[in-house]
Amino acid sequence: MDLAVHLDAALSQDYPQGTLYLVATPIGNLADLSLRAIAVLMQVDRVAAEDTRSAKRVLGHLGLDKPCIALHRHNERSVSSSVIAALRTGERVAYVCDAGTPAISDPGAKLVESVRSAGYRIIPLPGPNAAVCALSAAGFAQTAFYFAGFLPARAAQAERALASWVDLPAHIVLYEAPQRVLTTVGLLARLFGPRRHLFIARELTKLFESLERLPLGEAETWLRADPNRQRGEFVLIVEGLAEPPDELARALPVLERLLACLPLSEAVALTVDLTGVGRKELYARALELKGGG
Ligand code: SAM
Repeated sequence: MDLAVHLDAALSQDYPQGTLYLVATPIGNLADLSLRAIAVLMQVDRVAAEDTRSAKRVLGHLGLDKPCIALHRHNERSVSSSVIAALRTGERVAYVCDAGTPAISDPGAKLVESVRSAGYRIIPLPGPNAAVCALSAAGFAQTAFYFAGFLPARAAQAERALASWVDLPAHIVLYEAPQRVLTTVGLLARLFGPRRHLFIARELTKLFESLERLPLGEAETWLRADPNRQRGEFVLIVEGLAEPPDELARALPVLERLLACLPLSEAVALTVDLTGVGRKELYARALELKGGG
């Protein structure tokens, strides 16, 4: 394989002018930058970056020196108009966030929205993303997942958010900081129960990468067993329920409550309305509950 040939092929593709390129950058390992990302960074006139120092590090690694503009969460709207002004003159502009894919728990969405409504083209380049990288190694068979990103900073809000996802038939994917990982794992075990599996992906693509899958009930002890296990960057994935919770099981408390104060047929009809569960099933259960089934 001749690498130069592949890079030439990437460079000879068409990179339209007056376009915003969303470039995913490595989450730890510089070799994860794609050939197309390299070609785009070589072609663009300007790089808008969440952190211009880390953008310059990536550009320097490629021997490139490009004008950089800082575009982060505190100035995203106002700097978007400078990007649009550059696009208007026909420039190609790249946007890179600190690491990984722009707009995924990172700035970029407002820029995209402004550029699109100004009528300019946007070309996203796929590449590194911590959530997808972790999911690929979790080994959880079912495919649906819910990407929650970072939990709310306030404990009560974080708990409320997690509690609302407990019954989802999807894996819950979280980003977490090292100083909160123990607390969050404790909360997960309390809300999701000790048997559900947790996948802990730490320092993905880096020297001390570690991947651990274990029941939630064992996760806190595992993290405490070695202080290094609480260091670095984390993706946490809680295994989703294999099936949605049994609808009938959810409807039964409603039926019971209504049977206590209404005639059987009315209690059944109202439970059908409230829960959407079939009349026949509920009628049979109502008869059992009344002792007549
Ligand atoms: N835009 C990025 C992406 O596409 O993954 C995510 C940026 S978000 C501000 C940073 C969080 O992503 C970290 O706090 C951590 O939870 C997760 N993360 C980023 N790099 C990681 C890595 N190498 N290993 C594990 N988690 C990582």
